[in-house]
Amino acid sequence: MAQFSNDGDQLLIGGMPISQLTERVGQTPYYAYDRKLIRSRVGDLRAVLPKNVKLHYAMKANPMPALVAFMAGLVDGIDVASAGELKVALDAGTSPQEISFAGPGKRHSELRQAVASGILINIESFREVDALAEISRELALPARVAVRVNPDFELKGSGMKMGGGPKQFGVDAEAVPELLERIAKQQLMFEGFHLFAGSQNLKAEAICEAQDKSYQLALKLSSSIRMPVRFLNLGGGFGIPYFPGEQRLDLAPIGKNLSRLVERAKDDFPEASLVIELGRYLVGEAGVYVTRVVDRKISRGQIFLIVDGGLHHHLSASGNFGQVIRKNYPVAIGTQMNANTTEMTSVVGPLCTPLDILADRMHLAQATQGDLVVIFQSGAYGASASPQRFLGHPDVVEVLV
Ligand SMILES: *Cc1c(COP(=O)(O)O)cnc(C)c1O
Repeated sequence: MAQFSNDGDQLLIGGMPISQLTERVGQTPYYAYDRKLIRSRVGDLRAVLPKNVKLHYAMKANPMPALVAFMAGLVDGIDVASAGELKVALDAGTSPQEISFAGPGKRHSELRQAVASGILINIESFREVDALAEISRELALPARVAVRVNPDFELKGSGMKMGGGPKQFGVDAEAVPELLERIAKQQLMFEGFHLFAGSQNLKAEAICEAQDKSYQLALKLSSSIRMPVRFLNLGGGFGIPYFPGEQRLDLAPIGKNLSRLVERAKDDFPEASLVIELGRYLVGEAGVYVTRVVDRKISRGQIFLIVDGGLHHHLSASGNFGQVIRKNYPVAIGTQMNANTTEMTSVVGPLCTPLDILADRMHLAQATQGDLVVIFQSGAYGASASPQRFLGHPDVVEVLV
């Protein structure tokens, strides 16, 4: 992977040879996230985004507290999806003004914590309006809300669709006028709209189209209200390349399109900030998962490296987190980077299930017991998106380097 270099046989992570970093961490398996790569990713984005577009970090992609605190210093806001994530964002020193909360099933206690915190709540049902009105009266605090709209279109070519058609997320666009009336009647503080069409998209054209349609829809919906729109969250969906043949997302057209929308917004929404919220794109490529070879076996001619990590730490690399057809993440032997021969190898974990695959018949440097296997593109949807309790192996450690 181009973002990481090596020193002889050793892959460098955060400038340190992988064997040394492993000694520093004290165990395998572990995840390492590289601050410098995250900072330069944010810098690249800022260079193409118009200055007044706000960049938010959707922390469900990677909720490690130290990483969230680092992100809080780089971005304009943190998007949380639970009261648990809200705690991490507040602990990180994020101002409540810069936190928003989305999620289809916010419990009453979570709504209460959100109002008490003073954050922006993305409303996703009529029940939430009534509950927030009651909480706001009880606590004598305003409830700041935006409306999460389930749009009447989809994000074309996205890995995970989260809007359009029947969905558990947000309120159907058709029902939003009635919801806005209820918000006004209940005297909640309306501040804007949130539209999120989908995730993991590598096509700039499709992202621009979704942003345009989201903007149009927000404009139409705002015609019926008297309260000014202060935030217009156009979602994100920026993807990263995982598999052979995937092309990196071209940011330039997206920057151009957003500049155009910012210009239009000066007339249409004079008080609004445009917001985009990204998770994977900000942190995914900056992370690696490192696991050690425990055994090397040959079964009927096929080579298996059995490692101490697996799907219990890295469900997405095993192909069991939303992939229809399993494909290999980029993998390398981090202690044999200069090897000039490769062999067809499968990397499997220690779990007693054939689903525990990290690399299926890939060409890798020859490795033996003690070598370190690295899974790239692992900074998002890793540790926190994996079933760590399954089979009772030790927990994974996470470090920010
Ligand atoms: C998951 C999620 C995101 C982040 O998606 P990525 O693909 O990681 O960028 C952003 N917004 C909302 C509402 C989400 O649910």
